Order: sequence, then C-alpha cells, then structure tokens
Amino acid sequence: MIKFPIAECQFCGSELFFRKTELKGVAHEYYYANGDYANEGENSGLYDELVYTPRKRWYCADCEKYLFTFGDDW
Ligand SMILES: [Zn+2]
Repeated sequence: MIKFPIAECQFCGSELFFRKTELKGVAHEYYYANGDYANEGENSGLYDELVYTPRKRWYCADCEKYLFTFGDDW
C-alpha cells in the first residue's frame, strides 16, 4: 500500500491514479505441438521474469492530468 500526498485529483475529484511503469524482460511462452496456446499452468509464470521500473510522476486516471511526483523510498 502506498500513502499518497493527496486523497483525490484536485481537478476532477477522482480517487484513481496511475503512473507509467516500464516493463523489460524475456519470458518463456508455451505452446502445445498442435498450435494451441498453453494458457493453464505452463504460462502462469509468464510475467514473473519482468523487471518493473515505475516512474515517479502520477496522473489522474479519469482526466489524465499530472498530479504529483512521488516514489523514491517506500
Ligand atoms: Zn482528475
């Protein structure tokens, strides 16, 4: 859980924020020999190897305006 400096968007009052996160990595993507995507079990760890690099600028999810910069050390 993150403790944000504001409780809502100061422009539209929304309580949903987002930041941009860079994803980088190589995953094993499993297919069966018949061409079907292996969507149970085998691919459940598809995103485990990704490196998440979140940026510190936060935006409103509704009006998409820039709200605040936050996030060095939590
Ligand atoms: Zn807003």
